[in-house]
Amino acid sequence: MTNTPRLVAFDLDDTLAPSKSPLDPRMAGLMLRLLDVAEVCVISGGQLAQFQMQVVDTLEGAVDEQLERLHLMPTCGTQYYRFSDGVLSQIYAQSLSDDEKSRALAAVEGAARELGYWESETWGPILEDRGSQITFSALGQAAPVAAKMAWDPTGEKKNRLRAAVQAVLPDLEVRSGGSTSVDITRRGIDKAYGMKRLAELSGIPLDDMLFVGDRLDPDGNDYPVKALGVECHSVRDWQDTAGYLETLIPTLAVAARA
Ligand SMILES: [Mg+2]
Repeated sequence: MTNTPRLVAFDLDDTLAPSKSPLDPRMAGLMLRLLDVAEVCVISGGQLAQFQMQVVDTLEGAVDEQLERLHLMPTCGTQYYRFSDGVLSQIYAQSLSDDEKSRALAAVEGAARELGYWESETWGPILEDRGSQITFSALGQAAPVAAKMAWDPTGEKKNRLRAAVQAVLPDLEVRSGGSTSVDITRRGIDKAYGMKRLAELSGIPLDDMLFVGDRLDPDGNDYPVKALGVECHSVRDWQDTAGYLETLIPTLAVAARA
């Protein structure tokens, strides 16, 4: 265990910000202070566009040196982005193969039609190719929250669809995502996968990293990082994370000067 990690990694939703929301100005200020004294990674199941809206756009006044210490890992690290001279660049994106994509698209549409979940009135396309992930959104990507909540209040439809699709795609991973969505990725893609790739590509060993997340319980999506043996700090919400950073940042600042 390290008292002064070189890199601090964070889950995004409910760790740095409320779900799908931008960082509070207090948290954005803490992130900028942390970027002065450590490398910072954000890793989440979400897309790059969400990272930009929730994190990057809130870091007002960030200078190039701070941004160059920021590591962004959307879709659990199947994509990796860093800043160089103020421009965000893709380091890699591990996409599904054309064969995996076409099988995934066919399987989820077939199962949804069979179960009667293929809606005709939607807010945008039902199926989305996110490169490393195929996403089914029952009512379309832009559906209003109220409509989404009403579609499957118990989660029963999503679970039934997930199971039906998984049965057809034993070599891929099928997970239920947001309120109306089912995601298909390669098997074995979780935050531990992303952290291992980060260690390889950044040259910072896992022993020199600290991970902060709200779901480090065994059923949570942050748990694989803990199981990997990375030092972890558990939080309840972003305010809890902010309080923790208030004490962590001065410690790292001392170490950085030493
Ligand atoms: Mg979370």
